[in-house]
Amino acid sequence: MVFFVGLGRGIGGGLAVNGRVYHGATGTAGEIGHMIVTEDGPRCSCGGIGHLEAIASAYAIVRTMIGLSVEYPETEAAIRRITDGRAERITVEQIFKLAAEGDQVAQRVVHGVHTYLGLALANIVQLVNPSMIILGGPGANAGELLIAPLSERIHELCLPEASQSLRVAQSSLGSEAPLVGAVTLALQDL
Ligand SMILES: [Zn+2]
Repeated sequence: MVFFVGLGRGIGGGLAVNGRVYHGATGTAGEIGHMIVTEDGPRCSCGGIGHLEAIASAYAIVRTMIGLSVEYPETEAAIRRITDGRAERITVEQIFKLAAEGDQVAQRVVHGVHTYLGLALANIVQLVNPSMIILGGPGANAGELLIAPLSERIHELCLPEASQSLRVAQSSLGSEAPLVGAVTLALQDL
């Protein structure tokens, strides 16, 4: 069983079981974007509070970073530098790199992503015991800076029996790949 997570404007998810996408009763199976991960988080596009998508989608990561940076001149300057003055174009990959280079605002944003995405995925692992979690979309372009600590956190949170054979990996597909295609292709790679 493979669980696919796409981090883009929102967060999409999909579950592939025995080579087939599992849709659920009304087609929403695997959609973890609206999973509640905190009781007092930011408001989601759907109107809910504390949903994963409002914290860890690529869009949310960028928005949070730009919002927080307003109060930190050094971070603002760093953002301007790496985006050639177009802060709104900053990517998730650049934010994770800033965090790795020691920017404390970026580190705060990244910590939130690892915390809440890790929580949501750990719950998925406890529920369905997948062999693999594949991250795709623009958010996943942060690569190992996202995936290594995320994998570590999932393993920490899960019962060893549930996560012992779990692998967390970045999708090798482009960010435009539709979810179903991604899940199906990912299975062929195994
Ligand atoms: Zn929502």
